[in-house]
Amino acid sequence: MSATSAVPPASLALEAEAERLFRALLNVDCEPGRTWDLAGCRRIAPLTLEINRLKKEKDAVILTHSYVEPEIIYGVGDFKGDSYFLSLKARESRAKMIVFAGVVFMAETAKILSPDATVVVPDRGSGCSLADSLTGDQLRQLKAAYPDAAVVCYINSTADVKAESDVCVTSGNVYDIIAQLPERRILFVPDRLMGQNIRDELKRRGVDKELITSDGTCIVHDVFDAASVTEARARFPGLKVVAHPECTPEVAAAADFVGSTGAMMKYVKGTVAPYFLMLTECGLVGRLQVEAPEKHFIGGCRLCPYMKLNSLEKVRDALLAPRPDQIVTLDEHLRRRAARSIERMFELAPRD
Ligand code: SF4
Repeated sequence: MSATSAVPPASLALEAEAERLFRALLNVDCEPGRTWDLAGCRRIAPLTLEINRLKKEKDAVILTHSYVEPEIIYGVGDFKGDSYFLSLKARESRAKMIVFAGVVFMAETAKILSPDATVVVPDRGSGCSLADSLTGDQLRQLKAAYPDAAVVCYINSTADVKAESDVCVTSGNVYDIIAQLPERRILFVPDRLMGQNIRDELKRRGVDKELITSDGTCIVHDVFDAASVTEARARFPGLKVVAHPECTPEVAAAADFVGSTGAMMKYVKGTVAPYFLMLTECGLVGRLQVEAPEKHFIGGCRLCPYMKLNSLEKVRDALLAPRPDQIVTLDEHLRRRAARSIERMFELAPRD
């Protein structure tokens, strides 16, 4: 008997899985300043193997937002990306079950677009400071105050808010969509800072609109400040600063590039610079460490506490036997109204 044949097949499968994970996570930090090693991958290999087996058994698909931990994205995810991309994948999906490793409003969007699937969230506490800043009732009051305004909601909003809106947008398609709306007055919810950035950008593009916003902010993006950008530029000559439009207008003005998650990734991959400062969630840096390992990033990104509530264990539990609190349910009338605002976005959004 050879040495290899003496090893039980289960051990061989585990070792092959650990090596697959190690190749995928090689350049990614598993904690600040420490990258994944083979021992760490061996620790999580039993779980990723179990999840990938359960996925087949349950006819499930796992959608992973770029801000969740890389071992979820690269270990068990079927699709990775931003809210817009993942909403397209949810809409196309024919799977019986969708596990959404992201935050609750994203899973709601998946349920709106894929109503026959069982949509589950690993952790029901994974809210979002932005989406949770405005309820459907509050939006109805705003609509009453501005009856002539078109209601445009950012995709980072609850199903209730989407149901009250004329059209849903993302940070990537918002300018083109608003420019096509016949109304001059726009009620943009729920992100005040992004609203200010949109106002500036529309003006720059010569689009004449009056933008009214509600008062929400993203707790990850609203804390970056322009002074630290100046400081970083002095310390790292040639630095390129990349920001998300959920940052303040001062930070957006200080950045070299402002764009959606997908646009930021494209910019970094296509730009030659000695260093990048990413003014966004650290998960995006993790993805770039995998997909563009030749790039160098200086510190600055921030963690989203809601996204980090996702874990491999919770993904496994949601797949195996979801608890009622992990299953996303929506009133059918509300779901249909929310679907209209999202479908209108798909109609008006520019094709890539
Ligand atoms: S990063 Fe900001 S917008 Fe995204 S889920 Fe976290 S709190 Fe919400």
